[in-house]
Amino acid sequence: MLGERVWPEVGEGVTVLVPVGSVEQHGPHLPLDTDTRIAEAVARGAAARARAQAGADVLVAPAVAFGASGEHEGFAGTVSIGTDAVRTVLVELGRSAGRWARRLVFVNGHGGNVDALRGAVALLRAEGRDVRWYGCAPPPDVTPVRDAHAGRVETSLMLALAPDTVRLDLVEAGNTTPLPELMPALRAHGVAPVAENGVLGDPAGASASEGEAMLAAMVDQLCRLTLT
Ligand SMILES: [Zn+2]
Repeated sequence: MLGERVWPEVGEGVTVLVPVGSVEQHGPHLPLDTDTRIAEAVARGAAARARAQAGADVLVAPAVAFGASGEHEGFAGTVSIGTDAVRTVLVELGRSAGRWARRLVFVNGHGGNVDALRGAVALLRAEGRDVRWYGCAPPPDVTPVRDAHAGRVETSLMLALAPDTVRLDLVEAGNTTPLPELMPALRAHGVAPVAENGVLGDPAGASASEGEAMLAAMVDQLCRLTLT
């Protein structure tokens, strides 16, 4: 962890993984920091694997814990700083860490941050920096269903990562319409009018073992991206 080192221990040539998450509603059963926890776990796993496999010096930075979550405003607890602010944070973070880090990888846990990430990474790369980003999405062969938000995928991941934070007695299905069909309404009005409980999908069937498999697959993908 970057935050646990003292400065002489941070050698030039280090790779830094920066988890990027959100503080937003995740239905009645998952905590507000679900996306940040997932991004942090994938980053930590990949850093450990890269060190073990290749002896690479890979550090995990403190997370950018607030994201662009405008579509979830209307639910108590959600705190969104918006796409422009996230982009600015990522650009300045990349410029600053780029003074000593060889490579920077943003590890994103929240779909709403994608526009900010694309913009920030394009600018940082155009400035000559070795910056890339990874979106935490388990590959299809280990993903039981394609759900968008607080459904089976995220519930399984949280059962694997932090089971004490999952309110199993409050698990319920939300709007299970496929995301492409929902997108126009989501873009226009946000999540609340589309899914009163904040869930897009159905957590039924979620399990810790399913979550472990998805985590392992994402760690594998990020490790490869970090090392190549
Ligand atoms: Zn999420």
